[in-house]
Amino acid sequence: MSLDRFAYGPPDPQNEKPIGYCDACGGEIYRGEQVYVSQMGVCHSTISCLSVLLDVYLMDAEDCFMEGVSLW
Ligand SMILES: [Zn+2]
Repeated sequence: MSLDRFAYGPPDPQNEKPIGYCDACGGEIYRGEQVYVSQMGVCHSTISCLSVLLDVYLMDAEDCFMEGVSLW
């Protein structure tokens, strides 16, 4: 399973300095963007970054509950 955390970063606006950095992907965060905030930090408003920040991920239910599969 590939968690491409860098695939969904916002395009770089020219000549604008970031006001912060995403704690999930490390990418720049600019004025006007929305962010998710939690005790784990701040991240881009994408499921991709949020799932990294919260250490969760999406998978098919049948894979999750299939016998013999142990994630923990
Ligand atoms: Zn991010």
